[in-house]
Amino acid sequence: MKCKSIVIELADYLDGALDSSLRASIEQHLEKCSDCRLVVDTTKKTIQIFCNSEPAPLPADIRQRLHDALEKRLGGAGT
Ligand SMILES: [Zn+2]
Repeated sequence: MKCKSIVIELADYLDGALDSSLRASIEQHLEKCSDCRLVVDTTKKTIQIFCNSEPAPLPADIRQRLHDALEKRLGGAGT
């Protein structure tokens, strides 16, 4: 699994909406990739602030903004 795939699945991963095999692939990647770990960690904290620490689905516009920001951060590296 590549960093870009992590970004694409990240919102669902953090929502707990992924099936277990996809989730395991992401976790395997996170063990090896400190960049993605940082992104996931930062994103989790951001979501906790947004949702006031309650487990709630992300509003669609926040998901989209998050997705765009992460894509720029990971996909835009080197340009
Ligand atoms: Zn990665």
